[in-house]
Amino acid sequence: MSDDIRPSLGLRPVINVSGTMTSLGASIVVPEAIEAMTKILPQFVEINDLQRKASAVIARLTGGEAGFVTASCSAGITLAVAGAITGNNLLAIEKLPDVAPEKNEVLVQMGHVVSYGAPVDQSIRLGGGKVVLVGQATSTHRFHMEQAITDKTAAAVYVVSHHVVDYGLLNLKEFVEIAHAKGVPVIVDAASEYDLRIFLEQGADIVLYSGHKFLGGPTSGIVAGAKELVRHAFLQNMGVGRGMKVGKESIFGVMAALEAWETRDHEAVRERETGNLQLWKRTLEGRPGVTALIEPDPTNNPLDRMRVIISPQEAHITAWDMAAALRNGSPPIIVRDHEVEHHYFYLDPCNLHPGQETVVASRLAEEFDKARASNNIIATPIEDLSRHRFDGLLRWPD
Ligand SMILES: *Cc1c(COP(=O)(O)O)cnc(C)c1O
Repeated sequence: MSDDIRPSLGLRPVINVSGTMTSLGASIVVPEAIEAMTKILPQFVEINDLQRKASAVIARLTGGEAGFVTASCSAGITLAVAGAITGNNLLAIEKLPDVAPEKNEVLVQMGHVVSYGAPVDQSIRLGGGKVVLVGQATSTHRFHMEQAITDKTAAAVYVVSHHVVDYGLLNLKEFVEIAHAKGVPVIVDAASEYDLRIFLEQGADIVLYSGHKFLGGPTSGIVAGAKELVRHAFLQNMGVGRGMKVGKESIFGVMAALEAWETRDHEAVRERETGNLQLWKRTLEGRPGVTALIEPDPTNNPLDRMRVIISPQEAHITAWDMAAALRNGSPPIIVRDHEVEHHYFYLDPCNLHPGQETVVASRLAEEFDKARASNNIIATPIEDLSRHRFDGLLRWPD
């Protein structure tokens, strides 16, 4: 693209086949949101009125009674938890996170305490919550949850993600049933989910989404659900929410992204993504030691990805060295590699500009050809990767 600003900034023109990653700038913001942000930036607005307008749009799309926009889904977890703890007690809101009211316990299944780039439990503690782990990593039974609820329980948090343990845990309906039987509100982290209605339909009291993931909005979080709980979360803007604030451009940008989501041709998007996956499959088919499988999204989003399984003996390279070669070459291709120790990575087709799919295909061919031509097997010990994982970050900004 000729209007690519990155080279003039000295930034690498990365192509993102890893998914919606904060570390890469999340997603391609839809034109409707860009236009909305441009229009509102030069104007003054009464922010709480703008948030009222956002509430109406969020309510319409999610089926919740109310909603607002905050800095991120992570912020949304903190604000929703804080709201469940403080209610509308303005003094308690100012005192957080140190002095939380007595009723501050927040239940979460152990198998849901994952990292989305930061720990789920930290977002709860930041809102004054005392995390109470329920069950074990791979098993939560009803009795675990029932007996974890006390008169100090303020809320229960449920995480929807490919990161969570996907067997042996309580599903959302059971989780809600047990919590509601004792009057405990349920907060659902659905940061990266397409379906804007299903979690509230299944009984969640508050649901949280990222504005910058599938919605293609500016960096932001969406809080939606029961009016009183949403209001209590909103009031945290006078407290811990201040450091998570969004400006007029993000609020209005999210409103536009939500409206664009309503009218987006989701089937056409899916068709284009399927075309990309098929192109990459054709590119990889027949190569020694390479298996390309098209697989559905683990949390049932309407999206497929390609799993590229690499046998180092035949491909002459490990999956992690291939991911590095793709990342370090030109242009850099960033694959989805968080399970790479199992000798595979994924290609995610949903964050590409038209034409980039063919660049990805030719880079794949180039790197697999190069590896195959190598006389020895390119195999960095996986332990070295783990040991040096944060070296670059710890030297930042150098
Ligand atoms: C991405 C993600 C988050 C964090 O969302 P942000 O909006 O980037 O803060 C939280 N939970 C899950 C499950 C996620 O996938």
